Amino acid sequence: MNSEENSHMLGQHLRGGETTLIDQQHIKYFQGILANDAVKQDSQTLESYGRDWTKKYPPKASVVLFPKSTEQVAKILAYCTQEKLALVPSGGRTGLAGGAVAMAGEVVLSLDKMNKISKIDPINLTVKTEAGVTLQALQEAAKAKELFFPLDLAAKGSCHIGGNIATNAGGLKFIKFGGAREQVLGLKVVLADGQVLDLDCSVRKDNTGYDLKQWFIGSEGTLGIITEATLKLSPKPHSTQLCFLALNSCDDILAIVSACHMQQISITACEYFGTDAMNLVLGQFKQLQNPFEESYPFYLLLEVEGTSESMLESFLEPMFEKGHILDAVIPQSSAQENDLWAIRENIAEALFASGPLRKNDISIPISDLPKFELALQDCFKKADLPMRMINFGHVGDGNLHINYLGTHKTSQEEFYQLTDQLEKEVYQLVKSFGGSISAEHGIGILKKEDLPYRRSALELDLMRKIKSIFDPAGILNPGKVFDSLSD
Ligand SMILES: Cc1cc2nc3c(=O)[nH]c(=O)nc-3n(C[C@H](O)[C@H](O)[C@H](O)COP(=O)(O)OP(=O)(O)OC[C@H]3O[C@@H](n4cnc5c(N)ncnc54)[C@H](O)[C@@H]3O)c2cc1C
Repeated sequence: MNSEENSHMLGQHLRGGETTLIDQQHIKYFQGILANDAVKQDSQTLESYGRDWTKKYPPKASVVLFPKSTEQVAKILAYCTQEKLALVPSGGRTGLAGGAVAMAGEVVLSLDKMNKISKIDPINLTVKTEAGVTLQALQEAAKAKELFFPLDLAAKGSCHIGGNIATNAGGLKFIKFGGAREQVLGLKVVLADGQVLDLDCSVRKDNTGYDLKQWFIGSEGTLGIITEATLKLSPKPHSTQLCFLALNSCDDILAIVSACHMQQISITACEYFGTDAMNLVLGQFKQLQNPFEESYPFYLLLEVEGTSESMLESFLEPMFEKGHILDAVIPQSSAQENDLWAIRENIAEALFASGPLRKNDISIPISDLPKFELALQDCFKKADLPMRMINFGHVGDGNLHINYLGTHKTSQEEFYQLTDQLEKEVYQLVKSFGGSISAEHGIGILKKEDLPYRRSALELDLMRKIKSIFDPAGILNPGKVFDSLSD
């Protein structure tokens, strides 16, 4: 082992006064219960498994473990609790709140090798899967059986089902099918002390006391490690029809969504972005083309269920006449449809490639969107910072991704400092609209200070009490969601 690898050996427990260093004896124990190649300390592995897509926090993991079974996870957790070793559960590391970051010498437990789909049941419409299966692999396995798994995110090729559940991911089809929480029937979870909590469930109705699985959904690895899940599948949905609309203002989005509701047109996706986002994607991904000949202030990607092209046209026509739509494209092939989706799905990547970036994922009641948009622009203007604000999001469910993109060269860390005050003002604005500071990415490290913008002191106190029941030694993902059990 070289000296750089050695320097990573000194792991720190994050709770004050209870520091435990990771030493050779701990490593030997892990090597004793896992295969040789499942305990890694080379600098490349420590670097890549110590960070997520937040790209703000410098990684400093001590060791990365790759268990293959729930039993191995249980042994690791029992040992970490006994030795008071801080542990970070790691999925596909596409998280955007720093939840999977190891920056204080923690043990990282990766679910990469727990990647089997054990059973697809076409009668009960369920799939049983290990937590390390990627979302895309699960979608494809369902499709191969003529079934459908509705969760869908641009990060689907990398994010894990376990990570989706631990963050209660939302995504592109939330408006119709809900998020990760709505898809979960049962879970297998390893608790901090190594006990295996088997909450497997293949029935859809079960009213037997508290529904314990709910604690783990959206808990960001702070209450237990999800190793298996039983998820709901659906029959393949009716055919869907996509259209790409050019709009003048946010008011037009409301008019279109409300007309869909009034005419019983079921929306399966409703994604918006502005000219800046469009230009950024087209600049970064040269193979993509603007489907319109000119530029418009807003674009809406609207997917609806079961409507034929002619029915869609007769829905859109009066919207044109009233001036709610300036131009529209209805794709004529699945290749064209994929190209339109690619514009939307590549916005996040184009932003990351374009300079220092700070993202957030707020939600507000959709009816307030036009008022909120004006107040947000005002807030940004007043801050007078050397950056652009580029927004996009799952507007159909009131979820906006506000992005500050730096126009100058600076580190992510400095850029976050520069935008801190603005971010607080935006959160205050979101609060005044009764919205949430995190619609889908979670709290992680990034927003833990800001949790009081959404949660009362009583709620926070109860959350900490729940954490101390499941993880009294505080070994599971310390420093995420809360700083410690007592702060
Ligand atoms: C391009 C891009 C687009 C995205 N789009 C969306 C979107 O539309 N909607 C959305 O909601 N999110 C989106 N995200 C964010 C991210 O993909 C989701 O949060 C995703 O659910 C994270 O899954 P992961 O496997 O990558 O988890 P990770 O990033 O590895 O971990 C996330 C959190 O879950 C914990 N965790 C991971 N696995 C487990 C487990 N098995 N048991 C217990 N805890 C665990 C980690 O400790 C961490 O706290 C996007 C990200 C990118 C990069």
